[in-house]
Amino acid sequence: MNNDIRIGNGYDVHALADGLPMYLGGVSIVSPKGFVAHSDGDVAIHALCDAILGALALGDIGKHFPDSSPAYKGVDSKKLLAQVVKMASERGWGVGNADITIALQAPKLAPYIPQMRQALADVMNVDADRVSVKATTTERLGFVGREEGCEVWASVLLVR
Ligand code: MG
Repeated sequence: MNNDIRIGNGYDVHALADGLPMYLGGVSIVSPKGFVAHSDGDVAIHALCDAILGALALGDIGKHFPDSSPAYKGVDSKKLLAQVVKMASERGWGVGNADITIALQAPKLAPYIPQMRQALADVMNVDADRVSVKATTTERLGFVGREEGCEVWASVLLVR
């Protein structure tokens, strides 16, 4: 069927702790804090994976890449995204566009956003103009504002 479309949304949170590496949107971020995680902790990619899996009605990232599995210890989340995109393409779906909102109090992400868009687009085999990454603080409110964690929402449109 031509012009068949699917929409999906994803959400993820990771806690921050001192002295850990921070990866977001496939990019290494200079930060005194990083994400507590079984994988590399790239919470933006995890939300994006869940959005794609949601559009495919294939469950969630924890189902496909369990954090109890040693296979995913410290894994580069770009590899998870590549596998999820492959699951979509095997079913005839490609990414139409993706839109990601990252809530993080610090550091400021604006300088990294072009790199994130390109990194995610490269893994998803689309042009960077199909990938939006937006960042916001929460005005020091809540767990994000207290610099205890980061939350990310992702929406994706799949087309075939
Ligand atoms: Mg996660």
